[in-house]
Formats: sequence, structure tokens, C-alpha cells
Amino acid sequence: MAHVIEEECVSCGLCTEFCPESCITDGEELFVIDPERCTDCGECVTVCPVDCIVGTAAIPVPAR
Ligand code: SF4
Ligand code: SF4
Repeated sequence: MAHVIEEECVSCGLCTEFCPESCITDGEELFVIDPERCTDCGECVTVCPVDCIVGTAAIPVPAR
């Protein structure tokens, strides 16, 4: 399961420099991770200054 960048992203671009898979790109509003290429290595999580990158497991399943 790929990591995900949340809306708190300030588009600093730091994560793109550290991602070994180069799978983070500048999206229209925030940076986005390509889920097909992300290996869940966690490198981006450690460098993000606003802690807005989470593993998919950290996102709560919407209640229905
Ligand atoms: S978890 Fe690793 S592979 Fe996935 S986006 Fe972050 S740095 Fe890239
Ligand atoms: S390091 Fe964090 S704030 Fe900076 S572009 Fe990446 S996700 Fe956004």
C-alpha cells in the first residue's frame, strides 16, 4: 500500500529529492505520490517538515 500526501503539504519539494523511486511529483495543488511505484520505504515521511505524508494504513476507513 502506497504512502499518501495529505492536504497540509506546503509544496516545499523536499520529499522529491529523497524518494529513491522518484515517484513523487508536483500535482495541481499539492505533491502527489504515484501509488504504482511507491515502495513504502518511508524516506519521504522522515524529511517532510510538516509531517503530511502518511502510510495508507494510517488513514481511517470512512464510516458508513
Ligand atoms: S515511501 Fe518511499 S517510495 Fe514511497 S513516496 Fe515515500 S520515499 Fe517514495
Ligand atoms: S516534503 Fe512534505 S510539505 Fe514538502 S512537498 Fe513533500 S509532502 Fe509536501
